[in-house]
Amino acid sequence: MAKILDGNRIRDQIKQECKPRVEALAASKRPPGLAVILAGDDPASGIYVRSKIKACKDLGIESEHVAPPASVTTAELLAIIGELNARSDIDGILVQMPLPAQVDSKAALLAVDPLKDVDGFHPYNMGCLVTGRPGPRSCTPAGIIEVLKRYDIPMAGRRAVVVGRSDIVGKPMAFLLLHENATVTICHSKTPDLAAMCREADILVAAIGQPAMIGARHIREGATVIDVGMNRITDRAQVERIFRGSREKLEAFDRNGSVLVGDVDPAAMAERASAYTPVPGGVGPLTIAMLMLNTIQSAERRFGAC
Ligand code: NDP
Repeated sequence: MAKILDGNRIRDQIKQECKPRVEALAASKRPPGLAVILAGDDPASGIYVRSKIKACKDLGIESEHVAPPASVTTAELLAIIGELNARSDIDGILVQMPLPAQVDSKAALLAVDPLKDVDGFHPYNMGCLVTGRPGPRSCTPAGIIEVLKRYDIPMAGRRAVVVGRSDIVGKPMAFLLLHENATVTICHSKTPDLAAMCREADILVAAIGQPAMIGARHIREGATVIDVGMNRITDRAQVERIFRGSREKLEAFDRNGSVLVGDVDPAAMAERASAYTPVPGGVGPLTIAMLMLNTIQSAERRFGAC
């Protein structure tokens, strides 16, 4: 039977490990400080930001919610980021995506001081990742490496296939696996015969954004499957099909009007994989834990503690 890789358990471990580091910083200097910029009123982003601020509070990290209006211009946002860059009590700056359409997102990410870039999205830090230099790593892929390590899933010498090449998940995931000495293939929407590529994988990471797209024919028997996808489906027939008529899922759908599904067909994953991350409760919980870790590391670096 496939082993379920429990993201909530790993998140709790990481948070426990964070606590003494926050306490040590608070005792010797001051608690780490994170500024979260949420421009506009996108409801999903609002939920993410509240979760990040709550996680800070739980750990004793100071947080600040900066909330420019949805009409903010690129110049105004750059000025806000500039002020946060200059503040000595702020160790980490997070610009919540997506930004309002009129804002140049790339300019905003480039404006964050790389030393305070706790998302690891700045091109300087992406360069550090590629060249194996220290620096903050993109939270979701870094969390996945933690899961693989803490469940003793070997990476060195294994074939890893990452489906998806975004700057925030696919590309950093591929480089982190490469640094663990996996042999890595990156696939995307123009990859011919995706299923055959995926079947090569000892470790298959799906970061696509397409509900249950990866099925039994993509998964080699005994592979480890990491499902990054977080797709909210609002069509009852689709819920019925993906979850094979599961009463529990249909009841959840009837209560909430939607159900969360990953990029991998859940039944196929459970049948064919030797270990996998479920959705929800797999990769999702780790992203915020790694953000906390990046914020603490940023404070430690700025105080010369590491
Ligand atoms: P993007 O939309 O930025 O990237 C999706 C990638 O998937 C692209 O590289 C795209 O290829 C590829 N792709 C799309 N369709 C196909 C296809 N049919 N066959 C092969 N490849 C395909 O998404 P993100 O990387 O930001 O996110 C991916 C998923 O992970 C989403 O479901 C998102 O919600 C989730 N996510 C979850 C997080 C968590 O904390 N659990 C955090 C971040 C994301 P191409 O480049 O050719 O277009």
